Amino acid sequence: MKKRILFLFAAFFLLYSGVFAASVESGRRYQRFIIRNATVVDGNGTPASGPSDIVIEGNKIIDVVPLDLVAIAEGEGVRPKGDVEIDATGKYVLPGLINMHAHVQNERGGKPLPVDYCLKLWLACGITTIRDVGSDTKDTISLREKSSKGEIVAPRIFVYGYFGAPPVPKNPEDARIRIRDLKKMGVDGIKIVGTDRDIQEAVESESKKLGLRVAHHVGVEETNAWDDVHFGTTSIEHWYGIPDAAILSGRQNFPSTYNYANEVDRFRYAGRLWREADWSTLMKVLDAMVAANVAWDPTLDIYEASRDLQRAQTQPWFKDYLHPVLADYFKPDPAHHGSYFLQWSSTDETFWKENYRIWMSALREFEQRGGTITTGDDAGFIYQMYGFGLIRELELHQEAGFQTLKVIQHATGNGAKVLGEEQRIGRVRAGYLADLIVVNGNPLENLKVLYPTGLDEVRDGKIVHTGGVEWTIKDGIPYHGPTLLKEIKEMVDQAR
Ligand SMILES: [Zn+2]
Repeated sequence: MKKRILFLFAAFFLLYSGVFAASVESGRRYQRFIIRNATVVDGNGTPASGPSDIVIEGNKIIDVVPLDLVAIAEGEGVRPKGDVEIDATGKYVLPGLINMHAHVQNERGGKPLPVDYCLKLWLACGITTIRDVGSDTKDTISLREKSSKGEIVAPRIFVYGYFGAPPVPKNPEDARIRIRDLKKMGVDGIKIVGTDRDIQEAVESESKKLGLRVAHHVGVEETNAWDDVHFGTTSIEHWYGIPDAAILSGRQNFPSTYNYANEVDRFRYAGRLWREADWSTLMKVLDAMVAANVAWDPTLDIYEASRDLQRAQTQPWFKDYLHPVLADYFKPDPAHHGSYFLQWSSTDETFWKENYRIWMSALREFEQRGGTITTGDDAGFIYQMYGFGLIRELELHQEAGFQTLKVIQHATGNGAKVLGEEQRIGRVRAGYLADLIVVNGNPLENLKVLYPTGLDEVRDGKIVHTGGVEWTIKDGIPYHGPTLLKEIKEMVDQAR
């Protein structure tokens, strides 16, 4: 009995000994620091485990040491030492989230928006890597360089150059020239939006030659998912082109008055596309995508206003964190992309709810058949804020029927794999880059703990404010989430 008490005391002491070391400062790179007593959720779908001490040197994880409390109490186990540390007792540590569909934005509707606003919001939401799929390519490449040197407060950036930037290449030869030019500029990959088949063929074959991956927003176009299977697209963005490939007649049944250039038409009737897919043909499409290694980045969050407009328009974080330039851009106006809600009806929402149900079933089928699913926020459009949109995306993956371990894998390990970076990021593992988040709560139980605004809990009859990503560690540099959020609020207050 005495021995047992002694053991418990020793275990308690060893577990909490960490708190006596100095805590890290936000925004500083250390030669070495330790995250103590972390419950780790890795990016490969395996169950949580801990407590562990994570040792970071420079920009790398050099060790993840599971604490064997019995061995330590008996004087056999050794805890790694560090002068500075983060106390993660009772907290969860995950790989940094990977936002596979980001747009770095420094303006909305022609009005300037500070680029720090989106970069800091992403970090505050636990995003350590973004794949930019369309922005001012040159600017974003320079941000990528500054971010990799730790000169700016920003996630790691992969730039997928936007193929469709004006002047839009009109034939396959010009398309190949554009791809070569983008490669010379230093892009990491290519983003295309629905094009004619011959142009897609040129883009994909030239990209392959140059070692560039291709993200494809299919659109309701000449091409559909069969073409992505055929040409070997890296990832299909959103979902267009997938149900379209399973419509037996080969054409969507739009009304005769339909005009694709009219956004009300486009978004309204997109909400009636999944119901047109023939299920058994759809399964063949999904199988073919799996066989051709075409990943799926569904961005469920960005269509949510279509199924529940009021929810999208009244998100609680708008009050303190929605920049007035973005707020303006979100207001329905025919001059702004995605502002089709002036004529949105309960009928539209009902169709879209059904659309989501079929879409979500298709996603589950895709993964069960071996497909790779990732997460992206596509924020800056249709009421989605940078970062917050990605957390909502995770919630929607859970709603689709994936268990939270899988959802976290979508947002970490799977993103790394589709980027071709699975040996460097997306895991909590020795030798990997130190891209990690320390979460104040258990995201496996409640993904909402990832929202940087946190949540309230009742403990011993009292309301306690908790949750949020407390630390976002990117490339070995710890950023304090609440401090980032405060800076964002100041930016917004000033602009208002
Ligand atoms: Zn987009």
